This record gives sequence, C-alpha cells and structure tokens, in this order.
Amino acid sequence: MTPSLSGFPPSQIRRLVIKIGSALLVDPQGEVREAWLRTLVADVAARKQAGQQIIIVSSGAIALGARRLKLPKGGRGSLEDAQAAAATGQIALSQCWASLLHERGITAAQMLVTLDDLENRRRYLNASATLERLMALDVVPVVNENDSVATAEIRFGDNDRLAARIGQAARADAVVLLSDVDGLYSANPHVDANAMLIETIERIDARIAGMADGGSASGMGSGGMTSKIEAARIATGAGAHLAIISGKVDSPLSHWSDGGKGSIFLAAQARGARKGWLAGRLTVRGRIVVDAGAEAALRRGNSLLPAGVARIEGIFARGDVVDILAEDGRVIARGLIEYDSEEAARIAGKRSEDIATLLGHLPRSVLVHRDHMAMV
Ligand code: GLU
Repeated sequence: MTPSLSGFPPSQIRRLVIKIGSALLVDPQGEVREAWLRTLVADVAARKQAGQQIIIVSSGAIALGARRLKLPKGGRGSLEDAQAAAATGQIALSQCWASLLHERGITAAQMLVTLDDLENRRRYLNASATLERLMALDVVPVVNENDSVATAEIRFGDNDRLAARIGQAARADAVVLLSDVDGLYSANPHVDANAMLIETIERIDARIAGMADGGSASGMGSGGMTSKIEAARIATGAGAHLAIISGKVDSPLSHWSDGGKGSIFLAAQARGARKGWLAGRLTVRGRIVVDAGAEAALRRGNSLLPAGVARIEGIFARGDVVDILAEDGRVIARGLIEYDSEEAARIAGKRSEDIATLLGHLPRSVLVHRDHMAMV
C-alpha cells in the first residue's frame, strides 16, 4: 500500500468523508452501539485537532426505526415501511450524533439528501456550497439519504455510493467506508480460506469488479461489495481515494493508522468538475451502441456523430444522460444526448448531412457533444 496514504493521515488528506454502515451503528436489539460510537467520535476529534476536515455519512436510520416500530424484515419489507422506519430512526440517529460530537466540543449539522438532489446539477451545486460553508464554519456534517421521501426508482438505497457522491460534491480528498469486512478480498473470505486481501487497487478493471459478491453480509444495511466498488468508481473518478476498512474494532480509524488492514482504491486523475459530476451520475436513461470507428473517434476526443451508431436502446428525451457502449457491451463514455430516442433511432448510422432531410429539421449535427461527454 502507498505508505503515506495508509490511515489517510491529516498531513495527506485535508478533507475526509467517513461512512458508517448500519450494522456498526445499531445492535441486533435495535439500540445505538453508543460505547463503540464514542470511540469513533474520539478518532474524529483527534483528526479534527490535527487539521483534518470531516464529513460523516451515517446509515442506521432504517435499522433504528424498524425496531422501534416493530416492523418485520428490519423495516425493509416494503418501501412504505422503510420510509416510516427512516423517519422514526433518523431523529434518534441525529440526536445521538449531535450529543456525542458535542461531548467533544464539536458542532454537528444534519444534511438529508436524495439521489435526485445530487443528479440535478443546480441542486448538486447547492449541496456542494452548503458543505463548503459548513467546512469553513468548522462543523461536522452528518449526512444520510432522505429515505422518507425518496421513491423506489430514485433512491441510492445504499450509503456507499451516497458517501462517494458526497465526497465528490464536497471536493474531499478521500472517502473511507467503515464496514463489517476489512477490505476487498480476491474471493469471499467467509467461504474461501485462500481469499487474499487486496491492499491497493490502482484501476477498477473487470477482475476487480468481478470480486464483488452482491448483498450486505450483515443483512441490516443494503451495501455489499458491489455498491462499495461502484462507490470506489465514483470517488476515484472524482479524484478522491477510497478505502474500505473494518469498523468492527474500537477506534477504527486509529486502529487503521496504527497498521490495521484495509484496501485503498487510488484516486484517478480528477476530471473537470462538470464531467466528473456527469460520470458519477447514477440514473442513465438510454444506451447508444457504437462501432469501432466511432469508439476510436471518441477516444481521440471527438463528439459522437450519428454515422457511427449501430443501435439505440431505451426511451429518453433530449438532455438526458445516456451511456455510450461498444458492440461487445463495454461502456466507453457517458454524456448528455442532443436528440430524443425516437429521432436518435431514425438518424442512427446516417451521415450528418442527411439528418435535415430525414427529420425535416437540423437541431444538432452531433448526437453527443464532446463538451457534454465523459469517458469512463
Ligand atoms: N440510508 C439508510 C439508513 O439510514 C441506510 C442505507 C444503507 O444501508 O447503506 O438506514
């Protein structure tokens, strides 16, 4: 592991997002694990003292609320249950954070956001400005998804990707996911004795993505390794490092700094802010499958022309986000489309000169402009 980065020291990492999963925060009886949380808050206080700015992304609202309301399946049986549980649990969760941080002389702030808040560029910039102001005021924001209003199709559903997206909005240097596993393993360590911890991941390729297993091990939260790798893709693409470490020990951050295990996904070269936001978007409306010539042109930095398009999939409107794929299914880029799906299908494969004849008008000569496209 890159020695200077291990433990995400305040000297290297100015702004850090810390995500805490439900199973760490809430015990099986539905109570907050307060003694453990105090040790984490002590870690946070020490880091702040050393000059690190901290943002907390805290799960646990649904788990806490479900026990209070005696809902089956941990409150995750239906969307309505999850929303009622979140509304009930969130108030207890924020009270707990506020009082434990206050014990250490730290002011807490609460931000509840939906996926939509961060997918809409204007609201994303608002959230980003609020985080910036809170940092300047030396406050620790405690963020969670606003589960009580989010509907099924527009939910993050897991706080791993939310933490990465918040890291991006806050221009954080790193994100650490406290989990019930101590990193990314080559195979499931619970079933395979030869599974090896991967300490440093420089690139999220197919081999790394294939190590994800699916659902949450604890059954309490919703993030498994898949959502953690997806979070790593968002964070590293935004120029932030992302670590997965175990939260199953007291003072988990000091434990990690003192040589504890963990996996770090190294930040990629940061894209421009707008393209980074685009690449990290989670709602994609359509897919444009392109031929090898178009792929090569995109890689040289050109816009996508209709001529190179083999197929259009999905129903979308002009301005929606689409993925651009190679014929073998690889996602090459993501961008804002200039045509709705019906018109896009009519001009697919056609030369730009013929668009006006085909459509009776010529809105744009490109399908996706390079200024509105991010390679992935
Ligand atoms: N936002 C959910 C909660 O507070 C947790 C999502 C997750 O499990 O990551 O309960």
